[in-house]
Amino acid sequence: MVTITNHMPTAELQALDAAHHVHPFSANNALGQEGARVITRAKGVWLTDSEGEEILDGMAGLWCVNIGYGREELAEVAARQIRELPYYNTFFKTTHVPAIALAQKLAELAPGDLNHVFFSSGGSDANDTNIRLVRTYWQNKGQPDKNIIISRKNAYHGSSVASSALGGMAGMHAQSGMIPNIHHINQPNWWAEGGDMAPAEFGLARARELEEAILELGQDRVAAFIAEPVQGAGGVIVAPDTYWPEIQRICDKYGILLIADEVICGFGRTGNWFGSQTLGIRPHIMTVAKGMSSGYVPIGASIICDEVAEVIGMDEFNHGYTYSGHPVAAAVALENLRILEEEKIIDHVREVAAPYLKQKWEGLLDHPLVGEAKIVGMMGSIALTPHKASRAKFASEAGTVGYICRERCFKNNVIMRHVGDRMIISPPLVITPAEIDEMFVRIRKSLDEAYAEIQKRDLLKSAA
Ligand code: PLP
Repeated sequence: MVTITNHMPTAELQALDAAHHVHPFSANNALGQEGARVITRAKGVWLTDSEGEEILDGMAGLWCVNIGYGREELAEVAARQIRELPYYNTFFKTTHVPAIALAQKLAELAPGDLNHVFFSSGGSDANDTNIRLVRTYWQNKGQPDKNIIISRKNAYHGSSVASSALGGMAGMHAQSGMIPNIHHINQPNWWAEGGDMAPAEFGLARARELEEAILELGQDRVAAFIAEPVQGAGGVIVAPDTYWPEIQRICDKYGILLIADEVICGFGRTGNWFGSQTLGIRPHIMTVAKGMSSGYVPIGASIICDEVAEVIGMDEFNHGYTYSGHPVAAAVALENLRILEEEKIIDHVREVAAPYLKQKWEGLLDHPLVGEAKIVGMMGSIALTPHKASRAKFASEAGTVGYICRERCFKNNVIMRHVGDRMIISPPLVITPAEIDEMFVRIRKSLDEAYAEIQKRDLLKSAA
């Protein structure tokens, strides 16, 4: 058997990777030709690759490494838990201390009466749980036809067949189809879709699409509305201020359940424990994952309010995962929450990191490519445009310019992502002002290089 280690030459690792490893969300043949970058270790906000390059992680992995890389405490807790009780399930009249302690802690941190926790292994399966939760809730209340869930176009709620149908990504729908009784309304993306409306007016119009959908589908048919407080993978779309109060009013008026997908927004990303608190939302159910363990181990959950939990509990809930409440994952997540709390990392976000990041982020508006700069806490996006005043799109295929910018960042050792022609960041919450300065030196250099390339390739043209 070949022993594969960090010490092997990069080309050999890349060849083995290309031969055997199918990467998510990738064109694998092309990636195999190019060779994936091999990340070997990480500390704080820094990644190191197999060539010894130091890379500033502006995305916290996949928006998840909130406390930063390399925290020994989590490794120790994992090792201790594996020795003591590596696995046991919570299906048949059994429980264990890590699951009890994490559920109690989440209930303490979550707002309002969100006091009950159903564990999963990540965000996709937590949203699958939510579909079953809300449908079971209305069934148990004697309204089995109240089973339609309203979601938003361009939302990301996961990659399983059900959670991707719940999400609003057209490419994913095309690949695996839909499940019954999911309905999508438009997203509150003023930059791309606001036309001549002022942002406030547009925010109200987009929120009122929820009311129109409820009236059209029938109040007796609509079970729930699901949304991320700030749409993440859709391109960090921050709704106008008028949007969420109106959504909340509509959910209250028609008595439909509100599910906040906090997989990205949770655990400090927006400057509070949860994005719902930042945006003034009162959900009946929250989906959490990612920052709950800072990505050190896979874990997710649905956090459920008193009334929904009470109704679900009336009968057998036919749902569960082998790894629901996995003791090692739960113990690591609990330690991560202890660090977030005791080291006052969310205070650091609110008082230090987020205000400084906002200042630097909005400073990018002076760049010729940047038309809009949006940021909430530690998640931000810029819209790239050939013409700022008209909010024009590029004539090239959507994402061409975003990809050029993303590649320049990658080469300059700062990780950013592009979603179409938007660039996004979401760094570890522990990033310092000096690291933010360094990040922006690299981002500006990358945008300048991208601009030169775009001009050279004659891509600075507006769509008709
Ligand atoms: N919900 C949101 C808002 C997400 O951003 C993601 C992942 O990025 C998910 C759900 C799916 O989570 P997972 O990849 O852990 O299944």
